[in-house]
Amino acid sequence: MKLLILLSVLAVSAIASQKRYDGYQLFQVTPKDQSSFEAMVQLYEQSENYDFWIAPRGIDFAMDIMVPPAYTSVFVDLMHAYSMEYRVEMIDVQTVLDMAREERERTPRVATPRYSVDWNTYYDFNDISAFCNEIAAAHPNMRSYESRAIPMVKISTGGSGKKAIVVDGGIHAREWISPAFVTWLINELVEKYAAHPQYVDNVDWYIMPVINPDGYQFTFALTGDRLWRKNRRPNNDGIGGSSCMGTDMNRNFGFHWNEGGSSANGCSDTFHGGAAFSEVETQHVRDAVLAVAGQAEMYLTFHAYGQYWLTPWGYTATLPSDYTQLYNLAVSACNKLTAVYGTRYTIGSSTNVLYVASGGSDDWAKGGAGIPFSYTVEMRDEGLYGFELPARQILPNNLEVWEGVKVMAESLF
Ligand SMILES: [Zn+2]
Repeated sequence: MKLLILLSVLAVSAIASQKRYDGYQLFQVTPKDQSSFEAMVQLYEQSENYDFWIAPRGIDFAMDIMVPPAYTSVFVDLMHAYSMEYRVEMIDVQTVLDMAREERERTPRVATPRYSVDWNTYYDFNDISAFCNEIAAAHPNMRSYESRAIPMVKISTGGSGKKAIVVDGGIHAREWISPAFVTWLINELVEKYAAHPQYVDNVDWYIMPVINPDGYQFTFALTGDRLWRKNRRPNNDGIGGSSCMGTDMNRNFGFHWNEGGSSANGCSDTFHGGAAFSEVETQHVRDAVLAVAGQAEMYLTFHAYGQYWLTPWGYTATLPSDYTQLYNLAVSACNKLTAVYGTRYTIGSSTNVLYVASGGSDDWAKGGAGIPFSYTVEMRDEGLYGFELPARQILPNNLEVWEGVKVMAESLF
């Protein structure tokens, strides 16, 4: 009898040890004047208590902020003090996470037994790694697979002198739609090759579906945190010491690193690391990209959410000298994207459309690796579900973004 009791306690504590968000609320806030905007920027930069799912952009731009129950009343007081418009988008974040998990548990795994993943639900890092190996093994004459902690799939029909496109996903752990799109892209290029051979015959692809494996896996783990963003290396080099985990890999790249929009506080969700490329994951991505930089003409990095097709720079409001080219190509891509379901994307440079954020991978790809066409794509949605985009939206999202990616690729033919 004692043994049975012990077992049941262990089982309960295992379930209970994933980070919970009971009573956390997601607020949408729209500052209407400079003083209230500045109050929100101060909160964003200086408080660890609030999780900004969408960061402050400017007056009249809505932001999404997750507020813990202990801070709800002080937060609402702040709203009233500045006469800010707000509404509660999620009255209990844990309920939203629970519903999504229950739906995942009800979804049968892998309708097509050929591979370890499909695109009817979200899969963890082990399944995605297995998929990269399986699709490589199934098409030995089409591309090679480079086995390392961070899987990279090269898709090529051979020949020399071709331009290349580098694609990555999963740099921010909680943005699950990103690996769900990037794995789908691999499948579309390889398995549907016969339907559109030009996208593989004319360019080589180097695709990394999850460049933050530890963080991504932590968002699935029973002992983890569905809303984790950073990698999982303990911090000794940030303010806050070793009490906090993780570096924001998309603030850790070495081009104008630490020039704004990132934090020196190791407990912050935008901690930029102790130095540029301090993280083993960003080092791997840097080395993998530099190895093909002579061939690569385009870099696409997939994130969520907000529906933006962003150009450099993130570190400054000054536009790159070839901005018109970058912008016009993004307009063509988004026109095709929108034509599928009517989903609208905002186009522009990261700093001007969103906010200053230095150390981003797109800035480094362009400024550091010399890849001219560099874009960050923030996919669905606009905040209704945020990071918990329902699995039934994976395929519609992928189909529309694919239309944009095709336009991007065609520009290199
Ligand atoms: Zn992101």
